[in-house]
Amino acid sequence: MKNSPLGELLLSTGHVTAEQLEVALHTQKARPGYLGEILVGLDFVTADEIAHAVATQHKLPYVDLCIAVPQKKALEALPKDIALDNGVLPLRIKRGVLTVVTHDPAAAELASMLRDLCGLEISFAISDKALIAQSIELYYFELENPIENRIATLVDEAANERDIDIEAFLDLLIQNAVKDRATDIHIRPQALSSHVFYRVDGVLHHYFSFPSRIHRNVISRVKVLSEMDITRQRIPQDGGFAFNYLRTAYDIRVAIVPTSFGENMVLRILPKTEALHRLERLGFEAAQVAVLERCLRKQSGIILTVGPSGSGKTTTLYSTLRRTNILQRNVVTVEDPIEYQLSLVQQTNVNESAGYTFAESLQHLVRQDADIILIGEVRNQETALAVARSALSGHLILSTMTANDAQGAVARLMDFGIKSYMLSATLLAVLYQRLVRRLCDNCKRPVSLPRAQLSEYGLGAAEGAAETVTVYEAVGCEHCRRSGYRGRVAVAELLEIGEDIRELLDKGRIALETGELLRRQGAATIREDAGAKLLQGITSLEEIRRVFA
Ligand SMILES: [Zn+2]
Repeated sequence: MKNSPLGELLLSTGHVTAEQLEVALHTQKARPGYLGEILVGLDFVTADEIAHAVATQHKLPYVDLCIAVPQKKALEALPKDIALDNGVLPLRIKRGVLTVVTHDPAAAELASMLRDLCGLEISFAISDKALIAQSIELYYFELENPIENRIATLVDEAANERDIDIEAFLDLLIQNAVKDRATDIHIRPQALSSHVFYRVDGVLHHYFSFPSRIHRNVISRVKVLSEMDITRQRIPQDGGFAFNYLRTAYDIRVAIVPTSFGENMVLRILPKTEALHRLERLGFEAAQVAVLERCLRKQSGIILTVGPSGSGKTTTLYSTLRRTNILQRNVVTVEDPIEYQLSLVQQTNVNESAGYTFAESLQHLVRQDADIILIGEVRNQETALAVARSALSGHLILSTMTANDAQGAVARLMDFGIKSYMLSATLLAVLYQRLVRRLCDNCKRPVSLPRAQLSEYGLGAAEGAAETVTVYEAVGCEHCRRSGYRGRVAVAELLEIGEDIRELLDKGRIALETGELLRRQGAATIREDAGAKLLQGITSLEEIRRVFA
């Protein structure tokens, strides 16, 4: 079968196997389309892996459009229709050179066409196709009609006792939240006005205030959309509705509770399809990825990702699972609810509150000739025992657990009644992770830090003799909405259960601290990992202290 240039490239970089490429080309015959999109659709590669491979091939920089924000003057240099037609996003102008983000730098005549059009030299940077298309829509739309100005106008009118279009107002509040990558919108009534907060990168920020007189109308509008009872205002209500913005579909989950000033509302914004990313892009170090891959090649055992809720452990689990060869191993998942759709994987929903449990579904799944089973979460003894039994009977199990480090996870499993000899026989690795906010590249500022402070916070001792080290601190600019941060990155410690730890487990509880065990393996503790990201200028000391407070 004749391969495309992209297929050849991904084959040569090891991003896909010959077998996967074959399947993709067959799929392409059945459903014509761009090979890259088909490979992503089959979950053989992620869109950012393709972009990385293309960038490396052409020796061009890769741009993460979840983090980078285009300059206004760059957008103004290129008309929107040209950007859309060619799938290019103007990013910045520096010394007469316009940097344009594309997924295909080999497109004939593109550079000369853009140069003639803008009168600027053109340099290319690479990102993934879908994200570029979405960013073109988002940033040009924002350039033409800034959403916040329109919200401000409506608030002004409402404050002047005029009637406003409540439907439009609510739409704008949600659109603006999507634009700023918020996960939740809080609408809080107070005595004189109501306040709108967005949760961005895990932290709440105040965005708008609006007059109390329209509070009830806003709540009613949401209740209508969510098919809730408008007449009842003194009881908590839950619901949800669908929302579309910039060609992307979202589920909005709504929770309303009565308070002394009126109904308080929280809207959670969930994209219908969540893109999977490379483990490296999530923030994991090459050494950690290598350990995970080694564990994934095992026929049986348990790989656990642990952390508090909202620490990204489920996302990590899926990104890990994606690295297995799904064509050769039968992968099934049991989730409550299904959080990511994976191609070629049988995904099932359990409903623990309705009595269909993880443990029960596991009994059925082992008979489905499963090789690898992803269990959403180990929450109780029943699930823990079922997981251990499945691993002992020759299945590779991936799951998550709420725990504060690897040792805590082991202790919790033992509390659930898993005997240490069972753990010794099954546990392959425990990954403990947290998320720290990423400093905004546009405004972060270097500062000198006494080296002693690094060890004071357990962040490791940096190489070198100088008394001080250079790190970065948050400032705030228009790119990051004055927060100084944009996006988040995982910090983690990964304990591989090798012979040494097995021996300890066979003797009973692990007596050593996780930190000591990691040091013996030459692996970093989570704080040392955070310290490394501090020294690389990825995050700030203030942020590390906030997360580990
Ligand atoms: Zn900034």
